[in-house]
Amino acid sequence: MDTARTIPIQTATLEGDGMGCHAGGEKLLAAAKSAGKSDTLQQYAADYPRVESAGPHDQPQSMCPAFGSLRVGLRMRRTATILSGSACCVYGLTFTSHFYGARRSVGYVPFNSETLVTGKLFEDIRDAVHAQANPAELDAIVIINLCVPTASGVPLQLLPKEIQGVRIIGIDVPGFGVPTHAEAKDVLAGAMLRYARDEIHNGPVAAPRGGRQDKPTITLLGEMFPADPVIIGQMLAPMGLAVGPTVPTREWRELYAALDCAAVAAIHPFYTASVREFEAAGRPVVGSAPVGLEGTQAWLQHIGEACGIPTALVDQARNQALHGMREMLAKQSLKGRITLSGYEGSELLVARLLVECGADVPYVGSACPATRWNADDAEWLRNKGVQVQFRASLEQDMAAVHEFQPDLAIGTTPIVQKAKQLCIPALYFTNLISARPLMGVAGAGSLVQVIQAAMGNKSRFDAMKSFFGGVGAGHAAGVWEGVPQDRPEFKAETRRLLEKQLKKRKAEEMG
Ligand code: SF4
Repeated sequence: MDTARTIPIQTATLEGDGMGCHAGGEKLLAAAKSAGKSDTLQQYAADYPRVESAGPHDQPQSMCPAFGSLRVGLRMRRTATILSGSACCVYGLTFTSHFYGARRSVGYVPFNSETLVTGKLFEDIRDAVHAQANPAELDAIVIINLCVPTASGVPLQLLPKEIQGVRIIGIDVPGFGVPTHAEAKDVLAGAMLRYARDEIHNGPVAAPRGGRQDKPTITLLGEMFPADPVIIGQMLAPMGLAVGPTVPTREWRELYAALDCAAVAAIHPFYTASVREFEAAGRPVVGSAPVGLEGTQAWLQHIGEACGIPTALVDQARNQALHGMREMLAKQSLKGRITLSGYEGSELLVARLLVECGADVPYVGSACPATRWNADDAEWLRNKGVQVQFRASLEQDMAAVHEFQPDLAIGTTPIVQKAKQLCIPALYFTNLISARPLMGVAGAGSLVQVIQAAMGNKSRFDAMKSFFGGVGAGHAAGVWEGVPQDRPEFKAETRRLLEKQLKKRKAEEMG
């Protein structure tokens, strides 16, 4: 292994590791471009477009995007994941990973101003990758450049492509280039599919663990509840199709099986880089998902067309799937107004299902962008009078709760907190809606149950509000020994100092 060569890194506009989300994306973006990352960032800008009216950070306000890639890496068997970034970012990311049940270590290559500026950081990464590359234990090593190493141009593309048969996948996942953690999952999934596609071109590859399917398969794109692929498989059976792997996969060899499909179902609509790989492999891609009556009907039709299935078999599949759902919807339905927002990318599907189950849904916000694969869902919802907001900011989601005064608010943590303060029952999208089946009869049935239970809690919120009303709010929040005093003059002074600081910084920048 040659570690003597130092690769110079251009860091003229970046000082030390003291820059992060708070330093402003523009500065980091400019630094990354001048440090040789223009092509990567241009591709991200095309794949994950932003909107000008987004939140104060010019992007949706969710967790560090790199968490998406990290989670995908950590969930794969025989895969090691290593982060290169500021210690505070790595602390947050490892904390979140373990909070969400990662059962293995996260690798970390630390740096300081000197190793960053001299290029020694790249040497350290290369050494770490060599030290980890044990083919008896690993199929792949994923190394993720966070904001500062990306902005500094740390050239992961110069790492060896494989070491003793262990594949090395280096990706840049800066917060200033990838807007959400959902899209960061695509960055890694797309990179892995590209690598696997090259391997397929270069010779025979490993078969799936359980052998190849004897029927043509549909690859599912997007993490979903484990029962959903099984339910989808049952819907596909009358058409002579089987369900294939779910991407992001849980094992390297599943990538080959995913590429070896008849068609791809982009259940989650933001996997743009992954779709590029499937399309390069000649696979048709179908958007939306089998949710609710109309959604299931249209989806099965589109899958049948993509795979050239005779109409009689498509009709058979549709009849089988829709019969049970009609019965279920006739027996149970939702009554009440629901606003919905989230950053998982499946918000429009859930909104469709809620509308079909009878709910009045005036607003759905998603932190993800509009794509080809959610266009039908957006149109369907708009035709039902739903306001669809892509790249929704927290402020827009909050405004919807205030405006529509729903019986239930489904959303991210701050939305749930706000709604509960307003005595509106609320459900956390990620933990309580994403973590249950959505497809077919089982999806509709389970969603109706949880929503009805949550809406039934309104009286408990009213009782709590009347009991605790006014305790610990505003300036009196916290634990006090005496009677808390409001000090508006202190707040005014702090605001004055902050404004002064801001003006000074702006003047320095202009000067
Ligand atoms: S890596 Fe994540 S936490 Fe760190 S500065 Fe970038 S966006 Fe923020």
